[in-house]
Order: sequence, then structure tokens, then C-alpha cells
Amino acid sequence: MAYKVENYRLVRERFEEKRRRAVSEAELRREELHRLCPEIGVIDAALAKTGMRIFTAACGDEDGSKERIARIRAENEQLLAERQALLAALGYPTDYTDARYECPRCKDSGFVDCRMCECMHKELVLEGFRSSGIGRLIDRQSFDNFSLDYYRTSDEDYARMKVNLEAAIEFSETAPPAYANLLLCGSTGLGKTHLSSAIARRVIERGYDVRYESVQNVLSDFEHDRFRSGYGAEHDARGQVYLDTELLILDDLGTEMTNSFTVSVLYQIFNTRINRGLPTVISTNLTQSELRERYGDRVASRIFGEYRPLLFCGRDVRFQKI
Ligand SMILES: [Zn+2]
Repeated sequence: MAYKVENYRLVRERFEEKRRRAVSEAELRREELHRLCPEIGVIDAALAKTGMRIFTAACGDEDGSKERIARIRAENEQLLAERQALLAALGYPTDYTDARYECPRCKDSGFVDCRMCECMHKELVLEGFRSSGIGRLIDRQSFDNFSLDYYRTSDEDYARMKVNLEAAIEFSETAPPAYANLLLCGSTGLGKTHLSSAIARRVIERGYDVRYESVQNVLSDFEHDRFRSGYGAEHDARGQVYLDTELLILDDLGTEMTNSFTVSVLYQIFNTRINRGLPTVISTNLTQSELRERYGDRVASRIFGEYRPLLFCGRDVRFQKI
């Protein structure tokens, strides 16, 4: 899924703000420390000149520069040791004036080596949930408010939906990292989206990377990649995320236009994720025979062999809520 421009802007601003805050709070602690212990202030001022001193030392003759640089480094180590001893004498930790970032990996910049950090990705996923249609659902739809009362149409329906709920909860507590797959099948309005949202929400809360997307949008991303190939596509491949994400939730399989390209993309997604042991949840209105008919034996056998089917039954919940 391509991040919404608006969400991306919002999250970037949020990251810039928390990074700025971490740096300015560290600066305040440093100033306070210098007032308390001017000797540390003198050391910090000397350490701050290191870069310029090394630069100057490197500009001279080559043999002499190595020696000068080594001397500067040794002096620095000495200064750092003195600084640590002074901090310890004051009862302060050695990292007292370091910026305290929420994410030490990316230092709240959202990027590590030009790649997006997991923390920013999660924030974007959450922002995506919040701002999209599914976002409002994820706010409202959790395991806590999934009511089995709507399925009292028969004892059999109730028992089956109870098993589905328990299976979805168990899945959301274990996969990932455990490998498991669910196939939520049944007509519209029987709670598949509610349980999918609840799974996404719980797995995100557990700190895993989740992609929740309609099959139609996933295929659009692969389509985008296909037409971009040869134009630096590896830097802008949108489809890769569906192969890499720790949990993929594919909504509404069977509502897309099906052709040989879409079937091969779906096979690639299912097969790659199975081979890599990455869990996937699929929801569909199609029956087992319709799945086989539409996608062929190759795709169907990957699904039937690897996914636990949960059959949703009862009467359309939306009508019962009116
Ligand atoms: Zn990070």
C-alpha cells in the first residue's frame, strides 16, 4: 500500500517534533550539568572542537598527520574518561546528556540507512487505520465487542462462530512469530471484517508489522510495479511489502477482476509467504469450489493445503443491528 500523502506528512511532522524535543531536552540537561560542574563544561567545549582539529591535522603532510590525529584521539579518550569520572562522582549516569529517543534505532528520525524504520512504519499503519475506512473500523472493532449474540440463529451457527472467534483470538496472540494462516469465508455481513480488524489491531498492539489491504489494492500495487519496471523499480516497488510484512491481511478475495496476471501475482504472494513462514489472513465470499474455479488448482491447492478455513454463518449482522 502506498502511504497516503497526508498521513506521511503528519507522521513525518510528529517524528521531527519528538526528535527536536529529545535533542532540546538533552541540551537542557547539558546546560544544567555545566552549571553544576564547570569542569565538564570545559571538557565538552574541548571535545566539541575535535572534528575541526582532526580536519586541520589531516591537511598537513601525510606522515605527520597520522601522528597528529592519533594524538588528538588519545587526548579525547583521556577527556572522556575524566568526564565519566566527574559524572560518576556526581551520581549521574554516563549517558546523562545523551538525547533520549523513543526509538534508539533511528533516533526518532524514522529512517535507518535511508530505509524507513519499523517504528515509523507502524505509526503509518496506525495512521492508515485511523484515517481510512478500515481505520474507523479498527477503532470500533475489537475482540471485546465481537458479540456472539448475533449468531444465535441456531445452535450450530453459534457453536461455529464461537470456534471462529476463539481461533481468531488464538491466532492474533501467536502469529506472528508463529506460522499459521486463516481463510475467513462466508457471505457479506457475517463478521469477517470485524474479526480481521480485531486481529490486525491485536497484532499491531503486540508490536508486529501488519498490512491490511483489499486484494484489489494489492493487485494495483503489483500492476504499478509491472509498468514501472526498468525505471528504477527496485527503489519504488510497492508489491514487495506484501511479501515481506510479518502479517498480511487480504480483504475480499474474489471481488477483483481476475486474469492471468492477477492469478500469478496471488500465487506469488501466497507461495512466497508460505515458503518464508509468514502468516496471512484472507477473507472471501467465495466458496471452496468457486475459489478453485476462479484461481485454478495451483493457487487453490496452496490455500487449501496451508490455510485453516473458518466458515462464517448466520444472518447478516448489519440487518440485525438496525
Ligand atoms: Zn525507529
